[in-house]
Amino acid sequence: MQVVYFDNNASTRVAPQVLEAMLPALGELCGNPSSLHALGQEAAQAVAGARAAVARLIGAASPARITFTSCGTEANATALRSAAAAAGQRRRIVTSAVEHAAVLEPLAELESQGFEVVRVGVDREGRLDPGQVLAEIDEGCALVSVMWANNETGVIHELAPIAAASRRSGALFHVDAVQAAGKLVLDCARLDPDFLTLSAHKLHGPKGIGALYARRGAPLRPLLRGGPQEDERRAGTENVPGIVGFGRAAQLAAQWLAGDGPARLAALRDQLERRLLEVIPASVVHGARSPRLPNTANLRFEGVSGEALLALLSDEGLCVSTGAACSSSRHRASHVLQAMGLSSAEASSSLRFSLSRDSTPAEVERAVELVARAVARLRALAHPGGTEVGARGRSAAPAE
Ligand code: PLP
Repeated sequence: MQVVYFDNNASTRVAPQVLEAMLPALGELCGNPSSLHALGQEAAQAVAGARAAVARLIGAASPARITFTSCGTEANATALRSAAAAAGQRRRIVTSAVEHAAVLEPLAELESQGFEVVRVGVDREGRLDPGQVLAEIDEGCALVSVMWANNETGVIHELAPIAAASRRSGALFHVDAVQAAGKLVLDCARLDPDFLTLSAHKLHGPKGIGALYARRGAPLRPLLRGGPQEDERRAGTENVPGIVGFGRAAQLAAQWLAGDGPARLAALRDQLERRLLEVIPASVVHGARSPRLPNTANLRFEGVSGEALLALLSDEGLCVSTGAACSSSRHRASHVLQAMGLSSAEASSSLRFSLSRDSTPAEVERAVELVARAVARLRALAHPGGTEVGARGRSAAPAE
């Protein structure tokens, strides 16, 4: 069976060039980058090259601003805890209601330790109003943490005014850019956040390697203490194969971003949405009117369980998701869609399709065919008498 993989916001396939770059690092390049002999220094050079490539991908002023971590979750935790440790008298943290669990959970922990955490909501289109965020930033604010783009809807947030207001008030500004990196051109030097989080496996790199960008002078406090690796910012022998893979993936992503890849991917995503709306009555695209990542589509099929649909589609060889991979396994309705004003039933009727730069028009057509058939089947099961949602005569619902 030909598998169509449209779950790239959960994880991507390692690019062949990335695998090729990693193989020597799993083989002959066996040295520890801290060792002074030739093999150690070769490994250290490979790490340095990867650091420079990751820095270039996000427009960082210098490779020295990049610290490799074991994943995006670790990079987020490092940034958030560092900010809390540097907070002094400031006790307020401002974030959005639609952050990933890797931000929300550490912030909930800080809340239990006495910080006031303000979670600013989004509108029906998934947009965060910078004005509402700014209204919460004051002299008592220690940290502002807002994601660049949402993992479930792809909605891109307007960060420049938030960065400027954070700076003015003396609060630290952290950006979770895990989903934005490799899909959007990021300019760290221009946005100038204090911390920014990345993860290789979202951009055709390997799993188990992330990075934290820290502005020069940002109060980074190691989460793991031990050896002096990563300029004393993250102890533990470097994951050389992972880092080399991340570096190559960053180079490839930068090349792709410089061409017409993003526009072509957005057109493919738009085609997927248009065709699904055309052939499936009572379907709705979430966040359609917002600026979004070029690869992400989130749709609701009224009257259908997203989980049942996902299972049927998986049997037919189409891999999609009901939300963030980690929360789907908890069987909870998406907090992101609920923050957009959807009821829990509506949120539970939704699916995320996340394409990649390798996705093709033929895969889109196959996905449309499979989803249409599965939705019709589930609706017929729910309403055997033929009064199913699709029989109400509503064709494509307006894109909300
Ligand atoms: N932040 C966002 C927005 C994500 O989508 C994810 C992963 O889904 C993470 C953080 C966590 O990254 P990692 O899987 O590398 O820990």
